[in-house]
Amino acid sequence: MGVTLGAAAGWLALLQLEGLGLLALAFALDRCARRRDAATRRAIWTIATATLLIVPLPRLLLDASARALPETAALVVLVVWGLGALVLTLRLALGVSRSRALARRSSPLRRRAWTETLEALQGAGAPVAVELRVTDELSGPVARGVLRPQILVPREMLDVSPEQRRSVLAHELAHVARADSALLLAGALVRALYWITPLSWRALVALRDAAEDAADDAVLGAGVRSSSYAALLVGLARARLDRAGRATAGGLRRRVVAILDPERARSRVSASRWVAPRLAAAAALLACSLTACEARTDPLEERGHASAQGSPALNNINIGSTEPARGK
Ligand SMILES: [Zn+2]
Repeated sequence: MGVTLGAAAGWLALLQLEGLGLLALAFALDRCARRRDAATRRAIWTIATATLLIVPLPRLLLDASARALPETAALVVLVVWGLGALVLTLRLALGVSRSRALARRSSPLRRRAWTETLEALQGAGAPVAVELRVTDELSGPVARGVLRPQILVPREMLDVSPEQRRSVLAHELAHVARADSALLLAGALVRALYWITPLSWRALVALRDAAEDAADDAVLGAGVRSSSYAALLVGLARARLDRAGRATAGGLRRRVVAILDPERARSRVSASRWVAPRLAAAAALLACSLTACEARTDPLEERGHASAQGSPALNNINIGSTEPARGK
């Protein structure tokens, strides 16, 4: 009852096609929701990401032998896909371990102004305790971790104005509240799994952008003036340019325009982390329904065919535990 090479490659090729379809659907929905708030777009990408991660599991129950690829093609497909997936997974693991090491080298941030602003923003009965830390190695603040979240603040930012301090913490707290570290990690795993599909690369960018926009909305929702926040983002991009010698703030222009746009729909601040399990449940349901549809449309007589038949056309083609330090 061993799985043949051809059957495994056929299973993988169909998975990639299914992934392509799901990603195309997510982009279509994202386009429809362009005028909606960032939280809606983030929800679309959360469901898409979770579905893409869950879809392979129920598919394992399907009989793959009916869609097996010829041996030689199967070997090429499996080796090429496997190498790409391995490289991307290793890169992801390296990013996570670097982020951990960076946090270990940081020190607790005990300045009263910062801890008081954090407490004021979190309000009473905050769901998780967030640890504030200070680092010499970053030019912009970063939130990391899910179960024991931390916000890392660059030392050079310790003396910013009260409004900028509020902006920084409101943005990072929004990432923490929505468990964006885990979401972006999941997004990177999706890219490693479906890397052959170019849409998976663009999807990770779209997911990151939606998460950033939603966190930016939280800053404006906390009462920060949009002009002041936009100026802070530009200042952070400049600091990054000075430090890294290159402009890495690719999404900066888009974010600044979005922040200054008075017509834009804004998401409400209090997106709780309990939204995530609900979105994941919706994704699981979608993944199982997809597989059930496939199983039903899988004609029984096809099983009798030679397994070499019907090879589907294969669509050829820091992060750390949080997003790489993007402008805040
Ligand atoms: Zn951010």
